[in-house]
Amino acid sequence: MDETLSNKINYQINRELYSGYLYLSMAAYLDSKKLKGGSNWMKKQAAEEYFHAMKLYEYLAGKNIRITMEAIEAPQESWESVEAVFEHVLAHEKAVTGMINNLVSVAQGDQETLGMLDWFVHEQVEEEESAEKVLKIVRELPLNEANKKLGER
Ligand code: MG
Repeated sequence: MDETLSNKINYQINRELYSGYLYLSMAAYLDSKKLKGGSNWMKKQAAEEYFHAMKLYEYLAGKNIRITMEAIEAPQESWESVEAVFEHVLAHEKAVTGMINNLVSVAQGDQETLGMLDWFVHEQVEEEESAEKVLKIVRELPLNEANKKLGER
């Protein structure tokens, strides 16, 4: 595999782990507000991000490409409102979609990698839809009801 591409996939592992770290930070913020339903939703997202990272990890490892773990920066730790937290989730998922699209453009000509990335392209459509739904819930319902609904997702 082209080294520019494998380095970018390696970096995406770091970004997926950062996403998980960000969602865990959001979970901690929501727990501090006693919003257990919201924090449970965030913890599930964090676990999913670890799964995304591992999918990329196994792809590189399966090709005997040496993977390296880089530093993960500290995520934001407080927000001005609960709504702002969920706006941040949607904005973050859109940014991740941009990263995946960038990987797709770098992978042109590498059919196998494009096939692997196709899963992520579809996953990002779902992630953005889910973030939009959750943001709508938080905007339209009283906080206690929104919290309950998020806990059921
Ligand atoms: Mg992800």
